[in-house]
Parts: sequence; structure tokens; C-alpha cells
Amino acid sequence: HQVLHGNESGSSSSKTSSLPSILLAGPSGAGKTALLTLFEKRAGRSTSTSTNEKTEPAKTHTSQTPVSIKLNAAASFSPSPSSSSPSPDEKKKKDFLLIDTPGHPKLRSTALSHLLPLDPKTGRPLPPSKSQPIKGVIFLLDASTLSPSSPDSSLSQAATYLYDLLLSLQHRYSRYTKGSKHPPSIPVLIAANKLDLFTALPATLVKKELEAELGRIRVSRSKGLLDSGVKEEDDLMGNSKEEGDDWLGEYGSERFEFRQMVEFDIEVEVMGGSVLGGEEEGPGCEGWWSYGEDGR
Ligand code: GDP
Repeated sequence: HQVLHGNESGSSSSKTSSLPSILLAGPSGAGKTALLTLFEKRAGRSTSTSTNEKTEPAKTHTSQTPVSIKLNAAASFSPSPSSSSPSPDEKKKKDFLLIDTPGHPKLRSTALSHLLPLDPKTGRPLPPSKSQPIKGVIFLLDASTLSPSSPDSSLSQAATYLYDLLLSLQHRYSRYTKGSKHPPSIPVLIAANKLDLFTALPATLVKKELEAELGRIRVSRSKGLLDSGVKEEDDLMGNSKEEGDDWLGEYGSERFEFRQMVEFDIEVEVMGGSVLGGEEEGPGCEGWWSYGEDGR
């Protein structure tokens, strides 16, 4: 973790700040730090410059500032070197930042503020940052505790965070229009981690459970708003909200489905994998890596 901090964190004034960025979000314990460490080991600066390459995952990320590391999408994910290596110039073009964000509920605004920056004084949305363009989001979750029937189910916690994240992207789409032009789309990869564990749900079930839970959350939030009179209060304070502003996906639809997000130019994909565990035990995380590799 120290190495990550030493490398690139707090890079807002350095030349890395204008690199395209991928935001890594998800609840605590999902495996974000472990994933960051693995990616850095395979495709980060440490592969060429560091002499003390880490083999153990870094300690979990508890600081309040996001940690970002510079990676290169041209790097081959497998440990064996690829036969066709790109030229240094081509390689440089594929540099990007992976921004790790804290998963604790009280610190989640860190991740959301990258997607929907708010003016700290007025609380109103600011235009998306040009200096650090976010190209995509990896939302990592622990698939081994996601089943609603598991005693310590993380479904509600993960879905609440995901709801807020997708809603921020939905607001970004509808609020930052210039004429008829919307901001560039930000696809979301839901990475279902820990598939090496036998309690883990496969990606198809992860998708189903999340869609059902997100549907429940949006119903309870819309009821909550009506009951509490928050809407009227907001109106009085000049934060007038349009009807359905906090409703995720297709307004008025009975069931929530990820494909409803396409209406807001948000592509959502669920893919399983595991950061730890050998190839025999699970699908690894090559799939997540190549998702970013497509230039998205
Ligand atoms: P963070 O809070 O999201 O940064 O999560 P961490 O990276 O600290 O991981 C939380 C715990 O999950 C650690 O004990 C990791 O070793 C463990 N973990 C992460 N990925 C996997 C995985 O793919 N399989 C298993 N079995 N454990 C994992």
C-alpha cells in the first residue's frame, strides 16, 4: 500500500492527471485493494521500475483520499511476455489511471464526486472534470456473501451503493447537456469477485439478485420521499427536483433491469472472476482486464 501511495497518489498536479481514468468502486471487503495490487504488479510502473515487486496483496484501503495508480492497457495480462510488443509511443498512448476509492458508507461520496462533481458551497452539480476524464467504472463486489439467504448477506449494502452510483451517472447524463449533446458515456463493469469460494453466486445470479434488490430500493425510496415530505422541503430550498429524479432506470416500470440504463447511455455488464485463487479454482480476472483493454 505504501508503494501505491508513494507512486501516484495525490497526482492532481502531476502530468498523470490528464490521463483517462477508470474508477474502482465497491463496498469494503470486496477485494479492491487486492485487485489494485494485482493489476499494478502485472501492468503498472512497478513492472519496469520497481525492484521490490510485491507478491502479497496490499493492506486494505482505509485512507480518505483516493489512491490512483498508472497502468498500461497494452501490457499483456498473462505473466508470460506477449510476442508482439507495441512500440514505446503506442504503449504510452495506452496509459491510464486506476483510481481506488474507499468503500466505507461514510466515504462513498469520494467515488460519486468523480462521476457527479458537486459545488461544495451550493451542493449543485458542476460540469464533469476535463482534466481527469473518467472512461469507465469497475464496481467490485464480493459474490461469496451476496446470496440473500446467507446469514451475513452483503446484498443490501452492495446494492445501495450501486444504486447511488448508477443514479449519479443517470443525473450526469441528464444534467450536463449542452444543447442536445450529452457528456461522453461511462460504462459500468460489475465485477463479481471471489468466485473461487464455493458460496459464490455465478455472474448470472449476481445480476438477477442485484436487479431485484435495486428494484426494491427504488420503490422504497420513492415511497420514503412522498411520506417524509422531502420533496416539498427541497422545493422550498430551491433545489426543485423533477418528478422521478431519484428513480433509477425506466420511470414507472415495475421491474428494474440493467438494460434500462441504456436510455441514459450507460452500459452495464456483470462479469465474474477472482482476484485471488489459482486458475484451477476460478476464472481469475483476465476478463475484467480485457474489458478495460478495449479502449473503453
Ligand atoms: P477492499 O476493502 O475492497 O479493499 O478489500 P480487500 O482487497 O482488502 O480484500 C478483502 C478480503 O478479501 C481480503 O482478506 C482479501 O484477501 C480477500 N479477497 C480478495 N479477493 C479475493 C478472491 O478473489 N478470493 C478470495 N477467496 N478472497 C479474496
